[in-house]
Amino acid sequence: MKLGFTAAEEAFRAECADWLNGQMAGEFADIKGIATLTEKAERRKEWEQQLGAHGWSCIGWPKAWGGRGASLAEQVIFAEEYARAGVPGRVNHIGIELAGPTILAFGTEEQKARFLPDIAAGKTIFCQGFSEPGAGSDLASVRTKGRLDGDEWVVDGQKIWTSLAHISDWIFVVTRTEEGSKGPKGLTFLMMEIDQPGIEIRPIRQINGDAEFNETFFTEARCPADSLIGAVGDGWKIAMGLLSFERGVSTLGQQMAFRNELDAIIAAAKANGRAADPLIRQRLAKAEIGLRLMRYGALRMLSNSDHSKVDGAALTYKIQWASWRRTLGELAMDVLGQAGEVTDNAHYEWDMLPNLFLYSRADTIYGGTNQIQRNLIAERGLGLPREMRGDSK
Ligand SMILES: Cc1cc2nc3c(=O)[nH]c(=O)nc-3n(C[C@H](O)[C@H](O)[C@H](O)COP(=O)(O)OP(=O)(O)OC[C@H]3O[C@@H](n4cnc5c(N)ncnc54)[C@H](O)[C@@H]3O)c2cc1C
Repeated sequence: MKLGFTAAEEAFRAECADWLNGQMAGEFADIKGIATLTEKAERRKEWEQQLGAHGWSCIGWPKAWGGRGASLAEQVIFAEEYARAGVPGRVNHIGIELAGPTILAFGTEEQKARFLPDIAAGKTIFCQGFSEPGAGSDLASVRTKGRLDGDEWVVDGQKIWTSLAHISDWIFVVTRTEEGSKGPKGLTFLMMEIDQPGIEIRPIRQINGDAEFNETFFTEARCPADSLIGAVGDGWKIAMGLLSFERGVSTLGQQMAFRNELDAIIAAAKANGRAADPLIRQRLAKAEIGLRLMRYGALRMLSNSDHSKVDGAALTYKIQWASWRRTLGELAMDVLGQAGEVTDNAHYEWDMLPNLFLYSRADTIYGGTNQIQRNLIAERGLGLPREMRGDSK
């Protein structure tokens, strides 16, 4: 067993690096290194289109739908080179990593033709309407209602924490379509155009000053009757399928971004003298060990034959990277000392390391909190009895 890449894959790496570095030194130099998800959103939409025009947007998708049919190893290599070149995060990450794969797996041929090429071309930006004020970890408590009215669905209710809704074109929404149903039954997965009178988006400001996510209100919002993925009542199955993409392979390439962050902390420690502090040195070494272990874990997941399944490795990996990065954020602040707590910028656009500290607090929450991941590992991985729930009396 060889945990590594072939010569052909390394050649592909060189091709990716060439193109990405060329872009970041040229036409898109102004977006290089942006740490938050919303800064220069319009330019980053143009970047999505540039990726699409050059066939680099959704390289793992079939060629027929705007991809390159790239292998999983090639997708990881591209993601690594993407981060290494200092390219900012994808503003359409929900479209390319969640909506697209879900449409590919569960959509009709008509839906694939309608959505996938435009997502790949960076022309359709998606956001995710799952969480509600009373339905986060317990997603099955969704209360947003959908009802058929002639040839349209009418949706009423509220979603929350809707990342990037304010710059998106479409939202996929888990709705309760069976009157009086409870839990995972009676839910339907709808796709809705955002720009309509029935949808109102209000920003929520985060501790890093950014307003990446939003409250999304639906008041008689409408979409055509054929806007559902799967059948009426299939919403839970589709939502779980989608989350398996979120918890699965889509996180593999992020380790290069972590490498950049750890390198920036090491550089800061050398520059301000904290590198001489034995405890800081120990924590830096521990971070390095953790990063290397994650890389081997990711390569092992990569060598599994069926990447579409959420296995124990994918579940433990989410806890592992999220907890590691949260600790890294704390280390960053201890290395920076007081300099990390002040900003000379009235708009609080934090530098990379304070931003890492603030944002990493969210890593152990979105995509399934650490506690929920532990429950899943216990129940699905270890076969332990299901946890006690309020409704299991
Ligand atoms: C940066 C960020 C972006 C997000 N983007 C989106 C988005 O685009 N679309 C979207 O729909 N949602 C989004 N979310 C929401 C995210 O999915 C939820 O925050 C997450 O599912 C947790 O739900 P909650 O916030 O309601 O917390 P709760 O579910 O209320 O949990 C509160 C605490 O209780 C714990 N807890 C809950 N249930 C259990 C249990 N059974 N056993 C043990 N502990 C438990 C949790 O672990 C947590 O610590 C985003 C969140 C963040 C932080």
